[in-house]
Amino acid sequence: MLHNKRRWSLYPVETAQELAELLTTQCWTLCTGFEYAGIWYLNDSTSEDGIAEYAVIYEGHQIESVTFGWCGPEAALRHILRVTAQAEELLKEPWSHPVEPRVEDWEKHRCRHCR
Ligand SMILES: [Zn+2]
Repeated sequence: MLHNKRRWSLYPVETAQELAELLTTQCWTLCTGFEYAGIWYLNDSTSEDGIAEYAVIYEGHQIESVTFGWCGPEAALRHILRVTAQAEELLKEPWSHPVEPRVEDWEKHRCRHCR
């Protein structure tokens, strides 16, 4: 489920390793999103104290949901590499569905979650 009233700031990330570290070694505001290899990872947690859950968005579809809060960096990296390799196939899965998240450039984004 994607929080449809939320706006996300999107940070570009260069490598899967870097993304895995970011997602598992720090707590992020609820409006945090990352982009790696054309895929968006949007914080879909219900609260900042809760378990970190991310919606995975590709080509305007949510193709996966990953609870990175339960992952260490190695497990997170495996999820990221799997999603990256299988994005096209995941698009065709029955749980894949169109979404229209409001995503903004991280340099311009401000909202109540990150003030
Ligand atoms: Zn924000």
